[in-house]
Amino acid sequence: MVDTVGVVGAGQMGNGIAHVSAVAGLNVVLSDVSMEQAQAGLGVVEQNLMRQVGKGVISAEEMEAALGRITLADNLSAHKNCDLVIEAATENEQIKTSIFKELCPHLKSSALLASNTSSISITRLAASTDRPEQFMGVHFMNPVPVMKLVELIPGIATSKETQERFTQFTDNLGKVTAVSEDFPAFIVNRILMPMINEAIYTLYEGVGSVDCIDKAMRLGANHPMGPLQLADFIGLDTCLSIMQVLYEGLGDSKYRPCPLLVKYVEAGWLGRKTKRGFYDYRVEGEPVPTR
Ligand code: NAD
Repeated sequence: MVDTVGVVGAGQMGNGIAHVSAVAGLNVVLSDVSMEQAQAGLGVVEQNLMRQVGKGVISAEEMEAALGRITLADNLSAHKNCDLVIEAATENEQIKTSIFKELCPHLKSSALLASNTSSISITRLAASTDRPEQFMGVHFMNPVPVMKLVELIPGIATSKETQERFTQFTDNLGKVTAVSEDFPAFIVNRILMPMINEAIYTLYEGVGSVDCIDKAMRLGANHPMGPLQLADFIGLDTCLSIMQVLYEGLGDSKYRPCPLLVKYVEAGWLGRKTKRGFYDYRVEGEPVPTR
């Protein structure tokens, strides 16, 4: 039985995973590189829980109880009593493997380990740990408290028992799962990210403005969000990393990341999280297109 969950990385995904786990009655250890980062993640959890209370999804008592189940940390040894640890740090293979190297010696031998990576090979990440058979890709969608789906990605060594235990865990969180084979970017991002990259090419080639591209896809294809709005929401650094994994992993030029996406990331314009991307969020009211 999973009783205590560890989450490494308190960014938009990590804090969402901590949120849904705590609401489901699990104890959570949420860590990041510093207490400030971990605290910022908890601040977001608090805001999102308050929103749920406002909408009547949970009661004020349930919110307090959930917050009381989350412990913060700035080091990986804090996960020593966890039954399951989910890595949700920056989408960068080196960062992830160095986390696993440092984390594994602290874990119980029975502990399950997962990565929330959007695209990186689960088999390769698993091989960097001391427990490939207890390792799996568990890919939550953004925003975690709202989105129903979790993609489950077994690596080549993942045992049947591990798959069953992770399915039980995500069932307990009230999520619906789709199983994906371990190929670059799995199912959702294999399909979604080339569409977003193509929208950025459309902007780069001057076919349409930010406003027209997003409006066209919202009203013409009935998407709830335009692709550039969605890219800002995901984080442009994450979008670029996923395109690079697709491009390198599948060796097909159709996945070449758009040079304009690279330029935005080089500028540090990463979308909502840095308050500027394809839109500028620093102003009051409606976000302003940057092109
Ligand atoms: P983010 O930039 O919001 O957060 C990343 C966090 O990781 C930051 O708080 C950072 O301080 C922390 N971090 C970096 N190095 C660390 C280390 N060595 N130890 C501990 N923490 C560290 O990113 P995010 O959007 O939350 O993405 C996290 C993961 O989730 C990525 O693998 C991403 O691909 C995946 N993901 C993202 C989305 C999305 O829509 N953004 C959706 C599904 C999955």
